[in-house]
Formats: sequence, structure tokens, C-alpha cells
Amino acid sequence: MAFISGLENFVEQDTPLAERTWFKLGGAAEYFAQPPSQDALMSLVTRCREEELPMRILGGGSNVLVRDDGVKGVIASLEADAFLKIEVEGNRVRAAGGAPLAHVISAAVGAGLSGLESLVGIPGSIGGALHTNAAGHAGDIGQWTSRAVVMTRTGEILERAKEDLDFSYRQSSLDELVILEADFELEPTDPKALTKRMQQQWIVKKASQPLAHQAAGCLFKNVQGTSVALLIEQAGLKMATAGGAAMSERDANFVVVRDGGTTKDVIELIEMIQNSVRDRLGVELELQLEIW
Ligand SMILES: Cc1cc2nc3c(=O)[nH]c(=O)nc-3n(C[C@H](O)[C@H](O)[C@H](O)COP(=O)(O)OP(=O)(O)OC[C@H]3O[C@@H](n4cnc5c(N)ncnc54)[C@H](O)[C@@H]3O)c2cc1C
Repeated sequence: MAFISGLENFVEQDTPLAERTWFKLGGAAEYFAQPPSQDALMSLVTRCREEELPMRILGGGSNVLVRDDGVKGVIASLEADAFLKIEVEGNRVRAAGGAPLAHVISAAVGAGLSGLESLVGIPGSIGGALHTNAAGHAGDIGQWTSRAVVMTRTGEILERAKEDLDFSYRQSSLDELVILEADFELEPTDPKALTKRMQQQWIVKKASQPLAHQAAGCLFKNVQGTSVALLIEQAGLKMATAGGAAMSERDANFVVVRDGGTTKDVIELIEMIQNSVRDRLGVELELQLEIW
């Protein structure tokens, strides 16, 4: 049986991924799926297991760099309404895995619930934020997460209670195939003061990252509390380039890509920075970005 047989209404072949990522680089997915419902997602997961085809979930594509020759297997995107729901009840916000983080923050702030506003300006989805434990200066998403629902690689749906969840710097125990939903227990606050705080944080964040129109991505994890941007500057690499990829003038931990740049250029720049920081400062830089 062809892999796609029976799934044609939501699975395509050879789908370009570049425009679905912040880097706007890289090749096509062998198969690209936009399941319309949880049942359809489960059929896809089951088929991937039967056919031994690797499957990954693409959120907002803000922490992923796709290789120039594309990605083997199935890339699934949770863009259907079934994966975008956001509900507010009392102090709790419940959000589906595909919901944009920005929409969830707006819903919480609009309801006068404080906590998630510290993540303002971080691109991507709730699933991506939970998988990477996205964090701003004032805390991470994990500290507000009280429950999650996931789908495993065998298609099982499991609920994870707060005590089963473990979050640390850019790491999360939510590493099952799909994060379907999560609950956030937040703190009631005056909505006006909260909105003002969020706007201030947004201005600071915007000023410190590449311009919105630039194809860009964040590269490395900080090293034991030391800002990696500072280490890159100390190693004299603030303006380093490789082909069409260059370190951002605004934040030395971001790469921006010029017209004609490729994933190969970004990978060369990553390796050059890692090697130079190791040679000059004796520090090992670990990638935050995932290369697919
Ligand atoms: C301009 C810019 C600014 C940034 N600023 C910050 C920052 O301040 N703080 C910070 O922590 N990060 C930052 N990042 C990195 C990135 O935005 C975060 O890691 C973000 O949370 C990733 O979410 P995403 O939906 O884009 O995930 P993607 O890049 O699409 O995917 C990242 C990982 O999450 C997995 N994933 C996505 N959705 C799901 C799901 N539903 N279920 C299971 N797994 C899933 C993917 O498979 C992949 O492994 C920044 C990136 C950019 C480009």
C-alpha cells in the first residue's frame, strides 16, 4: 500500500518547507500533513508506525533549520481548528498544541491573568514553546504549566499531571510525538497594569532581536547562566559571516540570512562560531536550534 493511500485529503508529497520556517531556507518534506482532526492525526501516526516512516511536528518553525536537500518522512502541521482552541476559565488558560503562543498570551492578558506575558515576542506555537521550554528574562513557560495532553508515537493519548512534568533551561520532559493541549495556572492581576507591563516587555524584546522582515534564527544555548551573545562578542565574532549567513547586529546569538543564502551557509557559520569559541575561550557552545 502506498503510504499516502487513504490519507490523500490531508497528506501531500514533496512540499516545500522554507516558507514555514523563520529561516525561510531548506528543501521539501517528503510528505507534509495537515490533519483536520485528532482522529486524522492518529491515523497518520498509526500509518507512520506501520510503514516505519519518521514523523515530526512542525510548529511555527522558529527553532528549526531545514537542510537544503529537505527532510525524509512526514512533517505534520497542526493548523486545523481542532488544534488551535484557547479557553479561559477562572485562573486557568487551556490551549491546544497548534495555537500561536502570541494568541494564548493575548487571551491570558485580556482576562487579567498574569504569567505568560513574560514570553511576549517569542514566535511559534504552544507545542513548540512547551517542547523547548521557551523562556523570557522573567521566566519560562514550564513554571505556569499545570497539565498537558500528548499523543505518543504509538498513537496513545496520555495525560501528564504537573508532578510528571519537568522543565529546565531550554528543556522539557514533554518529548512525546505530539503535544495536543496544555493548561496554564495563572495569577489574577489588574488587566490595565498587566497590558502595560506586556507592552514594555514587547518593546525591549523587539529591540533586541532581528528585524521582523529578516529571515533569521536563534542559535545557541547560554552557557551556565552566561549570555552566549556575550561569549560570541568576546571571541571577536560579532559580525562573523559565512556565504549568505551573518551574525545579527542586534543580538550576536541570532543569524540573519541574505538573499541567496542557504542552509549550508548557516551550518558553516554555526560550525565556525563553535570552533572559534572553543579555541579562543575554551567554551563548548550547544545548539538551541534544531537542524532537520
Ligand atoms: C526571532 C526569534 C526570537 C526568539 N526568541 C526566543 C526567546 O526569547 N526565548 C526562547 O526560548 N526561544 C526563542 N526563540 C526560539 C523559538 O521561537 C522557540 O523555541 C519557540 O518556542 C519554538 O516554537 P515553534 O512553534 O516555532 O517550534 P518549531 O520551531 O516549529 O519546533 C521546535 C520543536 O518543537 C517541536 N514541536 C512543535 N510543536 C509541537 C507539538 N505540538 N507537539 C510536539 N512537539 C512540537 C518540533 O517538533 C521541534 O522539535 C526565538 C526564535 C526566533 C526566530
